[in-house]
Amino acid sequence: MSTVRFLKARDIAPWLEELSRDRTVLAPAQHGGTIVFCEFDPARGVELSQLSTTPAKRALLPPCETLFEYETTKTLEPPYKTHVELRPTLPQGKAVVFGARPCDARAMQIFDRVYNGEQVKDPYYTARRNNATIVTLACSEQDDTCFCDRVGGSPVDATGSDVLLTPLKAGYVAEALTPKGEELLQSTSFMKAEGLRQEALNARNRILEHVPERSSFLDMERNLLSLFGDLGFWDKTAEACLSCGACTYLCPTCYCFNITDETRGESGRRIRTWDNCMSSQFTLEGSGHNPRPTKAHRMRNRIGHKFSYYPQLHDKTLACVGCGRCVSNCPVSFDIRNAVACAIQQADAAREHAHD
Ligand code: SF4
Ligand code: SF4
Repeated sequence: MSTVRFLKARDIAPWLEELSRDRTVLAPAQHGGTIVFCEFDPARGVELSQLSTTPAKRALLPPCETLFEYETTKTLEPPYKTHVELRPTLPQGKAVVFGARPCDARAMQIFDRVYNGEQVKDPYYTARRNNATIVTLACSEQDDTCFCDRVGGSPVDATGSDVLLTPLKAGYVAEALTPKGEELLQSTSFMKAEGLRQEALNARNRILEHVPERSSFLDMERNLLSLFGDLGFWDKTAEACLSCGACTYLCPTCYCFNITDETRGESGRRIRTWDNCMSSQFTLEGSGHNPRPTKAHRMRNRIGHKFSYYPQLHDKTLACVGCGRCVSNCPVSFDIRNAVACAIQQADAAREHAHD
């Protein structure tokens, strides 16, 4: 049976300090009035009171990473040749993500299917993934913008986590879910707490009792596909969008990247950076042609990918975990839940019309 321990709230910072000695520790912290996932700093502490604005995805897919460095040498005599020496920069060292929420941990499994699947294994991603331990904090309640329950998750879902923390008075019951989780719970910062296993389960069941009964967004691939050609619908849906990309950068399941070479003289590096499919330049081709020229095309792609194309490729798993970050941080209050609900309604209406 898996290990269960208790961590007092006041012992979190000393434990993370202990872990920081030989690992990178990422945790949510206050930063200028916002909660961001960043490297643990004892002076700043951790902030667990609400969902962080930025997701934990940077632990596995950093906003900017060097894929390799290069050095070129040219022969000065004919036949002129350029020799290129590559120095790979595979990520090294262990990491701990502390204080991820169930939606964040679940999102990492959505990345796994793309970057660490049977056909394609991205060496940078897999190195980070294998070396990372995810410590997830069950949510005591859902925010107004949360909808994990409508996309296959829940506030206490353990999918993708190595340790699940359940809040109890003055601390957290920690349950190891994987060997990596077991290793972390060997620290002396934890108290033995086998007797709290049932109490933690009861606490999680009480949290689940407060999840409202509401319609699900699962199994709607066909609905969205049937609206593919209805550009008028997408035009209306995307009307207020500013194409700023905040929704994509803050989304724990958005994984698109761009590749750039930065060269200085004879040396340089190839970097991978997060990209943003809501930008008009995302699909702009060298010829000047753009297959997604309008906001309507781009909105259709973003929503279609999360609720239709990805599930079709990956056993009906949605590429949205319902964290609500895109809802609470959009400057024009675009609400993806309303857009998806409207799409369902529109598709149902079209189907009924076809039967008349
Ligand atoms: S955050 Fe809002 S305005 Fe910005 S691209 Fe996303 S939907 Fe459009
Ligand atoms: S689409 Fe919005 S609600 Fe869904 S996972 Fe991304 S940020 Fe969260």
